[in-house]
Amino acid sequence: MVDQFERQIHYLRVSVTDLCNLKCQYCMPEEGVEKKAHQDILRIEDYLKLITEMTKLGIDKVRLTGGEPLVRKGIVELVEGIGSLKEIKDLAITTNGVLLKKYAKELKDAGLTRVNISIDTLDPDKYREITRGGDLQAVLDGIAEAKRVGLTPIKLNVVVINGFNTDEVQDFIQMADEDLDVRFIELMPIGQVATWTKDKFFSNEKLLEQYRDLFIFEDGEQYGPAKYYQKKEGKGRVGFINPISNHFCSTCNRVRMTADGKLKLCLHTNEEFDLKPLLELDSATIQNTLKTYISKKPQRHHMNDQEFVPIVRDMNRIGG
Ligand code: SAM
Ligand code: SF4
Repeated sequence: MVDQFERQIHYLRVSVTDLCNLKCQYCMPEEGVEKKAHQDILRIEDYLKLITEMTKLGIDKVRLTGGEPLVRKGIVELVEGIGSLKEIKDLAITTNGVLLKKYAKELKDAGLTRVNISIDTLDPDKYREITRGGDLQAVLDGIAEAKRVGLTPIKLNVVVINGFNTDEVQDFIQMADEDLDVRFIELMPIGQVATWTKDKFFSNEKLLEQYRDLFIFEDGEQYGPAKYYQKKEGKGRVGFINPISNHFCSTCNRVRMTADGKLKLCLHTNEEFDLKPLLELDSATIQNTLKTYISKKPQRHHMNDQEFVPIVRDMNRIGG
């Protein structure tokens, strides 16, 4: 599937729930989110129907996200279903890792290839603060279990927050090894919590300047949105995802499906297409409609423009 700007769209990010067992300050409002009525969210069979049609249009890589995907009932069944589609080459999950110790083996056996784990600090008190109550040890146990069962290479996602974790960068870099990449992600102003992010942005360019001695730059490679570097000492790679300071829109290959059945073509626009009516249609009509929608993917985001207004949908309702 090629969009009007000649980008090959083959990557689908699927949010399987808006709900989460944490309430990260940059992602979720303090009061949490209201549980939606059953009829308002996609059922496991709905996901499978839509994803099956998308694979026929060229989607070969799927990432399950949330909310927290591991709190979604039926997640293992969904992984099994997607993993059994012959077109799928890569099936991963992005999780906060809290429930990973419990699910890693089951998910691996169901066909999951890899896992990304979000962790913004290695200090238990700071972790409790940023996630509004989370237990750091549970995540560390989840990381260990994911390694043990071979859900590798693991990618640790660290959102860089000025004055909160900028002093922990080196500790995170040390965690990188042959089974684990560490990726620093720029904080984005999104949804209701956009105002929280205002003074806390710290660009990855500045971060790289401070830590450039730790990397071999010549080996820097571009895989999707992350630019990776080899560590000078020890094994492992460190990646930088710079949606704000150096956006990657010209190579964007992804679309998103939300838990309430909307297709989002860009993380940073409010435009959405309702997929639920498609569930009643035949395969050819679903595919034609999806093609029409996807052809409307915008050329780039406008987060750096002065008049940019942060999008309405909270991150926990998109999936990152
Ligand atoms: N609950 C899972 C997790 O935390 O990994 C999956 C959903 S979460 C919305 C996906 C990713 O988005 C996480 O890595 C999280 O850190 C990131 N994220 C959430 N809000 C963000 C923001 N305002 N700026 C940058 N990254 C954000
Ligand atoms: Fe939950 Fe992930 Fe959002 Fe944190 S970033 S509140 S873990 S959905």
